[in-house]
Amino acid sequence: MRTQVAIIGAGPAGLLLSHLLGLQGVDSVLIERQTADHVRSRVRAGVLESGSVDVLTRAGVGRRLATEADEHRGVYLQWPGERHHVDFTALVGRSVWIYGQTELTKDLMAAREEAGRPAFYLASDVTPHDVDTDRPHVTFTDADGRPQRVDADAVVGCDGFHGPSRRAVPAARQRVWERTYPFAWLGVLADVAPSTDELIYAWHPDGFAMHSMRSATVSRLYLQVRPDEDIDEWSDDRIWEALATRLGAGMEGWDLRTGAITEKSVLPMRSFVTTPMRHGRLFLAGDAAHIVPPTGAKGLNLAIADVTLLAEALTAWLRDGREDLADAYSDTALRRVWRCTHFSWWMTTTLHRHGDDFDARLQLSQLQRVIDSEAAATEFAHNYAGLPISFG
Ligand SMILES: Cc1cc2nc3c(=O)[nH]c(=O)nc-3n(C[C@H](O)[C@H](O)[C@H](O)COP(=O)(O)OP(=O)(O)OC[C@H]3O[C@@H](n4cnc5c(N)ncnc54)[C@H](O)[C@@H]3O)c2cc1C
Repeated sequence: MRTQVAIIGAGPAGLLLSHLLGLQGVDSVLIERQTADHVRSRVRAGVLESGSVDVLTRAGVGRRLATEADEHRGVYLQWPGERHHVDFTALVGRSVWIYGQTELTKDLMAAREEAGRPAFYLASDVTPHDVDTDRPHVTFTDADGRPQRVDADAVVGCDGFHGPSRRAVPAARQRVWERTYPFAWLGVLADVAPSTDELIYAWHPDGFAMHSMRSATVSRLYLQVRPDEDIDEWSDDRIWEALATRLGAGMEGWDLRTGAITEKSVLPMRSFVTTPMRHGRLFLAGDAAHIVPPTGAKGLNLAIADVTLLAEALTAWLRDGREDLADAYSDTALRRVWRCTHFSWWMTTTLHRHGDDFDARLQLSQLQRVIDSEAAATEFAHNYAGLPISFG
């Protein structure tokens, strides 16, 4: 099979890239390891920056988002005895939208099916070849056990942190920056109406807690735990009790509603960046190139930003014969990646309990500064609500 762009991985980055390229008349083939149902049901991110919403709307996949997503003007920052609202709309004129990654994936899959774009699900042994030549290709075994080969002008690795694309870049041409954190998140999904209108980020001596949501009837809640935490030690009652304490139940009449917990998992925290994001005719996008801890809600938004830049660059190259944007892709994308990496690190190290009591006082002083200083709040709002896609 021959196509212009072979895309490995049909998560949000791969699906959106294929859609954006299709709108510009550039062919692509998606090759995904899992079934479509598996990809559709993965519960992960839930906050979209306004720039991401603009991209999806312009691409014609924002219809359901426009009616079903919840617009949030800002977030609450909290520590014992105090809860403050930071209003992004008032500070920087931008908001964020609550829309589960599962919903976005459904919209992108529906658009792909409508356009009849080819995709191979349940592909195994997916391997990119000859990416530093003019004839790159991808081989794999399809769902029926038949060997397949896709020849392309460019190969894009949208295959997440564990996919094979990053490994196709020779070690001598690659540099990796990494930070692991001495804590993790216990995340739960609960069938209960959120107890807050907007996200709460809570610093607490027992550890960080966060109240997020997926819809009017589903809450998403997180607790800071140890990276090696045994999830079996966390009964539903213990989870609700810890959440109530850390989120300040009883404070100024506020209470935490409880309900049936439908999903429970421990999420490790990591910052990871690999450079460059292009090697020959192989391009990396989304989690294949970088991982941020989820505290800043940036992972999905970065994936959307990468493929927006990449779709423009590949269209200019493969349709219009101009390679300048493809040449600049890695540097352009990395400016935003590093800004978001810094913000996610800052949110993570400021809000989680680690270090000694001296560190705790510094964290509280920094949080207080965001509330007291309009300049500090504005900087926070710019980063959280999202910088322009081609920032820099
Ligand atoms: C458990 C978890 C929770 C998260 N929670 C949040 C959150 O609360 N907030 C937030 O902002 N971000 C969160 N993230 C991050 C966010 O979900 C990701 O940044 C986002 O999914 C990136 O999209 P992607 O398409 O680049 O990668 P992915 O969504 O990882 O998609 C990669 C795709 O490649 C496929 N693939 C992998 N290997 C192969 C292979 N060998 N061959 C073919 N296909 C392959 C995978 O099956 C997958 O479909 C979370 C991530 C995880 C893992």
